[in-house]
Amino acid sequence: MSVVLERSLGKSPVTELKNVGAKMAEKLAKLDIHHIQDLLFHLPLRYLDRTRISPIASLHPNFHVVIEGEVVVSDVTFGKRRSLAVRVADGSGTITLRFYHFNAAQQNNLKKGVRIRCYGEARRGKAGLELYHPEYQFVDESKPFKTEANLTPIYPSTDGLTQVRWRQLMEQVIELLMKGRALDDLIPEALLKPFALPDLKSALLYLHLPPQQADVYELEAYQHPAQKRLIMEELLAHNLSLLTVRQEVKREQAPILPPSKHLVKSMLAQLPFTLTNAQLRVGQEIQQDLASGHPMLRLVQGDVGSGKTLVAAMAALTALEQGFQVAIMAPTEILAEQHLKNFSTWFEPLGLTIAWLAGKVKGKAREASLNAIKSGEAQLVVGTHALFQDDVEFHKLGLAVIDEQHKFGVHQRLALKEKGKSLSPHQLIMTATPIPRTLAMSAYADLDTSVIDELPPGRTPVNTVAIDQSRREEIMMRILNACQQGSQAYWVCTLIEESETLEAQAAEVTARELQAALPDLKIGLVHGRLKSKEKAEIMAAFKAGELQLLVATTVIEVGVDVPNASLMVIENPERLGLAQLHQLRGRVGRGTAKSHCVLLYQAPLGQQGKKRIQAMRDTSDGFKIAEIDLEIRGPGEVLGTRQTGLMQMRIADLQRDAYLLDDIKLWANMCEHEAPHISEPLIQRWLGQNVRYGQV
Ligand code: ADP
Ligand code: MG
Repeated sequence: MSVVLERSLGKSPVTELKNVGAKMAEKLAKLDIHHIQDLLFHLPLRYLDRTRISPIASLHPNFHVVIEGEVVVSDVTFGKRRSLAVRVADGSGTITLRFYHFNAAQQNNLKKGVRIRCYGEARRGKAGLELYHPEYQFVDESKPFKTEANLTPIYPSTDGLTQVRWRQLMEQVIELLMKGRALDDLIPEALLKPFALPDLKSALLYLHLPPQQADVYELEAYQHPAQKRLIMEELLAHNLSLLTVRQEVKREQAPILPPSKHLVKSMLAQLPFTLTNAQLRVGQEIQQDLASGHPMLRLVQGDVGSGKTLVAAMAALTALEQGFQVAIMAPTEILAEQHLKNFSTWFEPLGLTIAWLAGKVKGKAREASLNAIKSGEAQLVVGTHALFQDDVEFHKLGLAVIDEQHKFGVHQRLALKEKGKSLSPHQLIMTATPIPRTLAMSAYADLDTSVIDELPPGRTPVNTVAIDQSRREEIMMRILNACQQGSQAYWVCTLIEESETLEAQAAEVTARELQAALPDLKIGLVHGRLKSKEKAEIMAAFKAGELQLLVATTVIEVGVDVPNASLMVIENPERLGLAQLHQLRGRVGRGTAKSHCVLLYQAPLGQQGKKRIQAMRDTSDGFKIAEIDLEIRGPGEVLGTRQTGLMQMRIADLQRDAYLLDDIKLWANMCEHEAPHISEPLIQRWLGQNVRYGQV
């Protein structure tokens, strides 16, 4: 018996509690509650103030209240549905309690003359103000009048678990806690003090049993120190888990790549421009990583058009010069092709061999690519996620460059490790969707970051306007005008469904419509259903100026680079996310001519659509746009990595709690120095089996 008593709540199964049998345990297990301690981490959603009894005359609809009075009438009424109506008076007024489900015993007990106290939400009903199915208890006249001393927690629940039942459970748990049963408080005093956070026991007691004077608003905003303590603990666990992954990768050996002596210089000499300061700086940051002997894990963020590709090319040449292979991966075939073209232009004059591998490469061509990659004959390999497949074997992979990181999963990225054999390849991740600072800290804590915060000279900001579909013809005339002046234009078609086929059809219809309305224009059409060769031909014709207007689906979202295009029409922009709109818009404004982007929306716009279009008009700063995107859509959507489990937090909410992230970083640092041993149990507590994606 004494052994059981000494067991900490974290190790005691819920069935140790009174009235918790196998069936109840099963229900709790659905909420991931297995041990008594898990119950304590099941925090109330909100609180009711039952510490004060309200006079019936003072009640308003939609407020949760406590009343006390005497039953004056009790009646079963037969309207549309049979119900028990119990009229209660307290001297100030009367109110009706209404029960649609009731039994004979209830009907008997709620008889004229008894005193009861009721809790419920006042609503307008048949007989004026009513309380529907209130909780109630009989008042014992012999005992002195006493209200509850604490606020009443309301728990998130599951089928078949009433609030009364939750409270019965929690009362038992709280009693155990007060009796001194051990709790696994992982955070030492030294870490709590600087942030004035309470220890675990006081925090949990406060949240399950808040005193009468507790501030309900503060609690419901999750700003109370007791809540902060738990939120921070959870965020810390997530942060530490990413840092652990990072440390594991960083411990491995990677090729030592000193600065390039010839290749980089030769490539830069071919270019008609010089590097921006930002490109130079980021290039140096990368260089340091490459020479360190341990795998680089670096995220390069840079707005659309900031010249990330060139930075990647310099890193690639550094690896190639030491005889290592380099893989460049892009999320879509069209973007991978663009890279293939760029890198061929830059690298072939240097005598380097490039292989191409995408999902559509099949049969003999695929065989040939795979062999060249395996033998090492192919020095640079460009492709899509086809490069992650098991049968792709590298001779000597030294660096993997991943473009547009947000579309690749963390799993895919880590699968790369396997491709490097005895040495782990360096990883360079590039994104044009700037990761909001808040997310960078929590979701990308495993990566070092570099920012290219400068556009090459000569870029002109894009003027963005929002125009209603009813003015479609006017827009067509504007396109005609612009093209007659020698510039080029995009017309982007969007669809709600994620169907390439439907989107392609819509684009075909639009292309026909535009051609009929503008017979003199040379119009091209590009969409995801075309063969790579056709796509490439059309893109090349547009780039060469042989086509004036390019009708496209969102396949042109990333990478496409035609400086002479200065007008873009985006149809139904309300269907796209902000980041995607910003990417699309980045296709114009690449030359010296003043560029315009027309958001051709379908009225009426929804709330979100309005916000997005407003943001597009207001700013061209990719970072600001990313922050607004996060605000509108939430972190799960923005990252597109919900499946990794990263965002499934129990108490914390990245958006609501973003203000704590600086503290978390500090805390993680302190933890590393002062209490490294708590890292593992913390990760275990908060992430469980979920997110050790470092080991997939
Ligand atoms: P992104 O960062 O969007 O991937 P890219 O690397 O595609 O941008 O570069 C966009 C365009 O800018 C390309 O045409 C590229 O050749 C050009 N570019 C890159 N760096 C410079 C520079 N320092 N000066 C002028 N043009 C540059
Ligand atoms: Mg790019």
